[in-house]
Amino acid sequence: MKIVSFRRADSFVSSKIVSSRHPEGFELYFEFSGAEPAGDGNWVVPAALLPAMVWGEEELEIDAPVSATLLANLPAIQDLYQSWLPGAGRVAVHAAEAAGDSTPEAGAARNSASFFSGGVDSLFTLIKNRETLTHLILVHGFDVALCEENYFRALRARAENVAGAFRKRLIAARTNVREFYGQTHDQWTYYHGGVLAAIGLCLSDCLSAVLIGSTYSLAQLHPWGSHPLIDPLWSTGALRVVHDGAEAARMRKIEVIAREPAALRMLRVCGGQPDSEMNCGQCEKCLRTMIGLQLLGRLDECPTFPHHIDLRRIRRLDLTESSLFWREFLGFPVDPSLRRTIESAVRAAEMGFGGDYGTWKSKARRTLALTKHIRADLIAGLRMLGP
Ligand SMILES: [Zn+2]
Repeated sequence: MKIVSFRRADSFVSSKIVSSRHPEGFELYFEFSGAEPAGDGNWVVPAALLPAMVWGEEELEIDAPVSATLLANLPAIQDLYQSWLPGAGRVAVHAAEAAGDSTPEAGAARNSASFFSGGVDSLFTLIKNRETLTHLILVHGFDVALCEENYFRALRARAENVAGAFRKRLIAARTNVREFYGQTHDQWTYYHGGVLAAIGLCLSDCLSAVLIGSTYSLAQLHPWGSHPLIDPLWSTGALRVVHDGAEAARMRKIEVIAREPAALRMLRVCGGQPDSEMNCGQCEKCLRTMIGLQLLGRLDECPTFPHHIDLRRIRRLDLTESSLFWREFLGFPVDPSLRRTIESAVRAAEMGFGGDYGTWKSKARRTLALTKHIRADLIAGLRMLGP
């Protein structure tokens, strides 16, 4: 993989990436409003390293200066990636220059930012670091696709309100990085951490630290793109990349948000209803957050959620990717009918049943999963009995 033709203007950086996937070259860009990007080649390293490893590239040649600190950390980052993705190869990284690391510029030294989506993790990180944070960063082209202009406009308006309420400045970033990756949902779970680090490194002329709110707590850690072992390794002398909030379980995060009236007024976890201030109250993220608030006795005070939890909706959820969060509720005194519903939804997810949508397809999938489990248990039992 070769990265050439670095360009930088007041509001954007780009470079051309030539690889086995893009033999003609792909113009990768990051564009900003509210901040000017830096002119070095650091940003491209976290954006390109993992795809280079996964695509079987032997070398990563960067025609721009890269921080010596960052270059020195790449073997450790590649160790971690290879332990998570055994098919990923080792890549030799060469930069035009291993740049000596400067400390943050005078203006940047006072500034730090956290990524912001409006959900539980980013609101927690904002409240926890409210005394030191100066900026929030909202990204278009990350969870929200570039084609979803109206959705992002609504998201940005809400983020501006939160930034104003907490006296922070909003930086909006826009990138075509997902088009560059062209990957599946599964791969994005590994790739997204490098993208956040890339955005942080783009902003090293105006920030000295960028915080990434943790998705999982320390007790729940598993391979995941933004991770406390990897995030800090993207740092340079000028910019620290910080994985923030992993010390707090989800209920602790919801508790901190629930104590903050401004945050409770603006809590928005839902991926649906982009033009509404309200969360839908029916999707997995909504129900998960509503239950957390209810356990704290604060659901009725949160204006962005309906105040009734529909147990039938919980039964229909597919918790395959989120059972860890739901398990946490079972450690709290939960109403017996809600507890039974959560227990059965978590058990179904962990056995691979998926949600019960009341359709013949979902019933067939659950029956098939049950048959497989009974068969596996039967075979294991017969083996134990011996010949
Ligand atoms: Zn929702």
